[in-house]
Amino acid sequence: MNQETAHGTPGMMISDEVMIEMRQVHKWYGQFHVLKDINLTVNKGERIVICGPSGSGKSTLIRCINRLEEHQTGQIVVDGVELTGDIKHIEKIRREVGMVFQQFNLFPHLTVLENCALAPLWVRKMPRRDAEHIAMQYLERVKIPEQALKYPGQLSGGQQQRVAIARSLCMNPKIMLFDEPTSALDPEMIKEVLDVMIELAESGMTMICVTHEMGFAKTVANRVIFMDGGEIIEQNAPEEFFNNPQSDRTKLFLSQIL
Ligand code: ADP
Ligand code: MG
Repeated sequence: MNQETAHGTPGMMISDEVMIEMRQVHKWYGQFHVLKDINLTVNKGERIVICGPSGSGKSTLIRCINRLEEHQTGQIVVDGVELTGDIKHIEKIRREVGMVFQQFNLFPHLTVLENCALAPLWVRKMPRRDAEHIAMQYLERVKIPEQALKYPGQLSGGQQQRVAIARSLCMNPKIMLFDEPTSALDPEMIKEVLDVMIELAESGMTMICVTHEMGFAKTVANRVIFMDGGEIIEQNAPEEFFNNPQSDRTKLFLSQIL
């Protein structure tokens, strides 16, 4: 079987190492051209940090990867499945892609354990006992098993964000997307969330993180991408990116945040 049929995507040759492929992706919100010719290949196990000014299209880009936003032209292929209008493709990709948001988006009326067990129960159709067992395993992994029976509102922001990460992991995703996961947190809680993300990176998870935590980018990312005005302006290994930025826009951005 050649690679094209293997991936069911005629016209696109993608190696088995590739987890996410975006080719010539454009998106508009009405008249507003928010993503301009995005070309991005993410290999399995890569850890990508995306940074850039507010409004540059970072959230839109990663939201297109699990179809929370729809691109209008170009191709997005996730783990060999192309994102088209086909609901089966969308559902398959969403089962493989976990996402963590700035606002933790937990269900306030469900306990921590119930929040985490929800998707295994309803999407994976697991028996409740198994779903709760998995939920507890991941709550242990993010180091808050003792909070399992509390409600989100009884937890600190850092704890809630760790629950949100555990909840995503319960679906056993192949890719984790993070959209400014520490931006809504008080400073003293940022580290506990970054530590969980670091551990996840070390476990080999393919990750794309929109973040302005440049310390995290330096230690965890294998590639840093800078976006401005809906475009990828430059991307490089962290050391090159921070020590030797190429574009004036990157230099200006770094001078403002570092
Ligand atoms: P970033 O995450 O880099 O701050 P976003 O992807 O959220 O950028 O937004 C990029 C641009 O698109 C911004 O100018 C924003 O106002 C606009 N935008 C975002 N979402 C929508 C939407 N649903 N409808 C119209 N414009 C939007
Ligand atoms: Mg954003």
